[in-house]
Amino acid sequence: MMTAATMGLEGRLGELTKKMYHKTIKECTDAQLYNCVLQLTKEQMAEKPVISGRKKVYYISMEFLIGKLLSNNLINLGIYDELEGLLKKNGKSLSAIEEAEPEPSLGNGGLGRLAACFLDSIATLGLPGDGIGLNYHYGLFKQVFKERLQKAEKNDWIEANSWLTDTGTRFTVSFGDRKVTSVLYDIDVIGYENGCNKLHLFDVESVDESLVKKGIDFDKTAIEKNLTLFLYPDDSDEAGNLLRIYQEYFMVSNGAQLIIRELKEKGCDLYHMDEYAAIQINDTHPTMVIPELIRILTWDEGFTIEDAVNVVSRTCAYTNHTILAEALEKWPLEYIEKVVPQLVPIIKELSARVAKKYTDPKVQIIDENKRVHMAHIDIHYGYSVNGVAAIHTDILKDTELNHFYKLYPEKFNNKTNGITFRRWLLSCNRELAQLLTRTIGDGYKKDADQLEKLLEKKDDVTVLNAIEDIKQQKKKALASYIREKEGVTLDLNSIFDIQVKRLHEYKRQQMNALYIIHKYLEIKDGKKPVRPMTFIFGAKAAPAYVIAQDIIHLLLVLSEIINKDPDVSPYMKVVMVENYNVSYAEKLIPACDISEQISLASKEASGTGNMKFMLNGAVTLGTSDGANVEIHELVGDDNIYIFGEKSDAVIEHYAKKDYVPEEYYKKSPVIQEAVDFIVSKEALAVGHKENLTRLHQELLNKDWFMTLLDLEDYIAVKDKAFADYEYRDKWKRMMLVNIAKAGFFSSDRTIAEYNRDIWRLA
Ligand SMILES: *Cc1c(COP(=O)(O)O)cnc(C)c1O
Repeated sequence: MMTAATMGLEGRLGELTKKMYHKTIKECTDAQLYNCVLQLTKEQMAEKPVISGRKKVYYISMEFLIGKLLSNNLINLGIYDELEGLLKKNGKSLSAIEEAEPEPSLGNGGLGRLAACFLDSIATLGLPGDGIGLNYHYGLFKQVFKERLQKAEKNDWIEANSWLTDTGTRFTVSFGDRKVTSVLYDIDVIGYENGCNKLHLFDVESVDESLVKKGIDFDKTAIEKNLTLFLYPDDSDEAGNLLRIYQEYFMVSNGAQLIIRELKEKGCDLYHMDEYAAIQINDTHPTMVIPELIRILTWDEGFTIEDAVNVVSRTCAYTNHTILAEALEKWPLEYIEKVVPQLVPIIKELSARVAKKYTDPKVQIIDENKRVHMAHIDIHYGYSVNGVAAIHTDILKDTELNHFYKLYPEKFNNKTNGITFRRWLLSCNRELAQLLTRTIGDGYKKDADQLEKLLEKKDDVTVLNAIEDIKQQKKKALASYIREKEGVTLDLNSIFDIQVKRLHEYKRQQMNALYIIHKYLEIKDGKKPVRPMTFIFGAKAAPAYVIAQDIIHLLLVLSEIINKDPDVSPYMKVVMVENYNVSYAEKLIPACDISEQISLASKEASGTGNMKFMLNGAVTLGTSDGANVEIHELVGDDNIYIFGEKSDAVIEHYAKKDYVPEEYYKKSPVIQEAVDFIVSKEALAVGHKENLTRLHQELLNKDWFMTLLDLEDYIAVKDKAFADYEYRDKWKRMMLVNIAKAGFFSSDRTIAEYNRDIWRLA
């Protein structure tokens, strides 16, 4: 058999269609062609060299939100255009074929997407680095709306032909009450015009998909069968919590076995493990890798506990992703005892060593309630602690982790998040990428800072108009996709205002909803906007998070009321898209005019959605939170809309417990009207009383994330942004400046910094 390299892509693809379906390229359906192109792409990737070196980074993460891979892999292989051309010659469209690819949902939101962007950049920079995670058969969940409520279904993504390759590797993982055999699948990760690394996804051999009966319900105690069915199974009961610990230990036990096997293959003396491996712990979920490695070194390799602790501490580094207390894992020691009793003596030893050195109760590993603080293990026994945006790292140092910062100032560092420009520009906005190449050359593809060259064109009418035209094309493409998927027709002359991200009170989708209510009431009152407005939302809510479900309900109710009201719908539309995921993001982001980044200051560690929107020429409407702060510094006051209280003021409100939402409600008729609309006759006619009343009460009595604190300022600044949109020359220049300044947010920059400061791979 000749390979593609010798016979050309078209010949090889023809061979594959013949072999797999007894058809020519022309005769195949898009779904059949997808399978053939998948095969062809895997072959091409297999011919690329494996990136190697003395030292390798292992990025361990419970989530890798990789998205579809075809388009990205073709771009990184440098064969996208050629393949697109030859398919076209045969009457086929590559983008139609891409639609046949199922999207894995191996992640939840930003943290998982970051892990995926990082793998792309590690390979693109030619650094040896593999991902380690789990192969969830049904991923997070697939969101559907029924009666204006979110329903969760399983997301079935693994097909007979997929990017997964069974490596043949099997490990045994021992729990207190059972042993399971793992299966290692790999997905090749190709760098942009570079070689390959791997994403290692572990599965259990005995996994049983038939355990899932209806929706996403299954027997949480059948560990051998359920271990890799879902990411984040409902953890509102003990069985759910135990399953989480089973999953986490399963991941790190496999990871540790794989790492030690690779180290031995390299001839590494394990006493010098840190010269061969860096292990990056993505949030606290993989923390048990630290005691697990110490256990293996002492039990199997003859290390003293002292030596084991020392070398593991020089190898492991921790990334913190949040200051939300409920997200920092604290497992009851008793749960760990049930699942992995072999780790308990190690964890107790690590805790005792800390207790001997430091008396401060805030830095202990096991607290007085016998709960194990996972982040504390990472900080004491890792060599680096990083936050993910400048303001977030400052808050860690000054407030949240201040007690640790005082002990270990040298461990703390910032690595502002980034996004891969291959997916978030070259692939999702080919039109813009081509314009950039025509205007500033294609150096920006490997050196994102070169986007700044675009600033020289900020008064060039041709370039400005071309940027505007592309935005319009992307709005049109999104509108036809949304018409097909959601059955809603959008006005192409309207402003597209978009908030897409996980549903969480701190992200404040409810504040955006209150703005929409406010506008609706104005229009009903005869105050028409100069230009129609389109509000688009996309968000999944954790199935056990009640208020988040209520917010989704409110958005769907508003959408129903507004879109069906003939007085209002010519001026505004509200769409909540179903099952927001990476593929949807790739369609939404290039079409956006205003990017909603409105978290309560201090709560969004970084955000990466904000960066994707900026890169695609949307203007940010946001608070001084996470990476918005750095976006603001880069583009300047004139090219962003910032509103709301600053993080210091917010942190002070929490410290003094002096925020009372009712005071804001009583003082402002605008706030009152908007909030009360949630339980108005109109709303209750369409929505469910239980959900709407609960949300109304929550806002009035608790409002933990201070929606009402910022609402008036939000309305004023958002109105200003909408008004400015009419000054087309000004707006086009804002778009250009945002694109030009986005280079800093390339994950290539982030990874170069991780390598320089933390991993030090040669
Ligand atoms: C980028 C991305 C996120 C993260 O968005 P934030 O606005 O930073 O929270 C979440 N989900 C998907 C599908 C993404 O692509």
